[in-house]
Amino acid sequence: MHCLRCNGLMALTRFYDLRDDTGNIAFDAWRCIGCGEVLDSVIYTNRIQRPRFTRLRKLRPVRI
Ligand SMILES: [Zn+2]
Repeated sequence: MHCLRCNGLMALTRFYDLRDDTGNIAFDAWRCIGCGEVLDSVIYTNRIQRPRFTRLRKLRPVRI
C-alpha cells in the first residue's frame, strides 16, 4: 500500500491510545514510513464522506 500524500510505503501498525478502566485501547492502522500519515477505517470513511451541510457565507453589499 502506498501513501496518498507522498506515495511512500505504508506499514500496518498497532497504535495504543490512552488507558481507561478496561485496559489499553489498541487499534491497527496503516502508517506511512516516509511522512507519518496514519490511515484507518474511521479516518478513511470520514475522508470520503461529503459534508451534509455547507456553511453559507453572508455576502456584503457592494458599494458603487
Ligand atoms: Zn506519506
